[in-house]
Amino acid sequence: MSPLGDGSGKRGDESAGRGDDSTDSGASDDSHVDPSEAFAALSDPLRVDILRALAAFHRESAPEPVGFADLRKRVDVRDSGRFRYHLNELRDHFVRKADDGYHLTHAGVEIVAAILAGTYTDRGSRGPEPLDSGCSLCDARAVAVYEDGRCAVSCENDHPLFNWSVPPAAASDASLPEIVSLAELLARQAIERTLAGVCPKCSAAVDPAVVAEDAAPAPRLRARCDTCGATMAGPVGFCLLVDPAVEAFYRRHDRPLDERYAWEPAFVADDSTISVADTDPIRVEIAVTLDDETLAVSVDESGRVSVDGSGRGGE
Ligand SMILES: [Zn+2]
Ligand SMILES: [Zn+2]
Repeated sequence: MSPLGDGSGKRGDESAGRGDDSTDSGASDDSHVDPSEAFAALSDPLRVDILRALAAFHRESAPEPVGFADLRKRVDVRDSGRFRYHLNELRDHFVRKADDGYHLTHAGVEIVAAILAGTYTDRGSRGPEPLDSGCSLCDARAVAVYEDGRCAVSCENDHPLFNWSVPPAAASDASLPEIVSLAELLARQAIERTLAGVCPKCSAAVDPAVVAEDAAPAPRLRARCDTCGATMAGPVGFCLLVDPAVEAFYRRHDRPLDERYAWEPAFVADDSTISVADTDPIRVEIAVTLDDETLAVSVDESGRVSVDGSGRGGE
């Protein structure tokens, strides 16, 4: 059983629906920091690094703006496109672009102070709280926790079951079970978009890949966005979670997939259902069995699912 989730927990990023970074005009510079804006700004560690670097620069050089290249060097990011993307996400609320570079707005100064004080990172954590679900490895109860913008489910013996980022703004009024549902919904949407070649975070093109890894007992689905740096990683069974034929098979057996936790189906939880049929390019076969009926599913190197055998659902 491998941990499921969108990346290492370091670079999962949420833009929280901000889409207008086209102009500096009309940006408010009042002292009030809107919590949802703040959470969005904090959702990627790179953005926090940018804010901190700007604050440090202002401390050294009074309120001088800092140029793009200099700022990138201070934050120590090699990928200029990714750096630009996250810097733009901080405009216009926290970072203002002037003719000769970037500087913090008043709200930007406030949020750096809040980051240093831990005001936002301490907020909004929930759990741990047990769920009505068990561990596929040891049968212990599953326990969920929400912390630092991530919803993590593991069993009482610490086997990791599921891990997905949920923007704090979306989680702020939700109970832990609601956050778990939201995390699963976001995961399914992200898997669908990734398999369609679209970054779930910034909509740039991505290439999903099924890869065999020495450290993992079964192949994994991976994607990394060169534009925003978001990563997605999970068991190869993730591809089946959003496949219409597999969904139809489960529905026909009265176990609709959307009524189960994402980490529960055997094709996600049980590596023994998975075999590598070809290595170059990789092709994975997964036996999906319910009530003595088996659906033979095959997944290619880019996560495309094909189904044959008697279990094929209607459409
Ligand atoms: Zn366990
Ligand atoms: Zn992206």
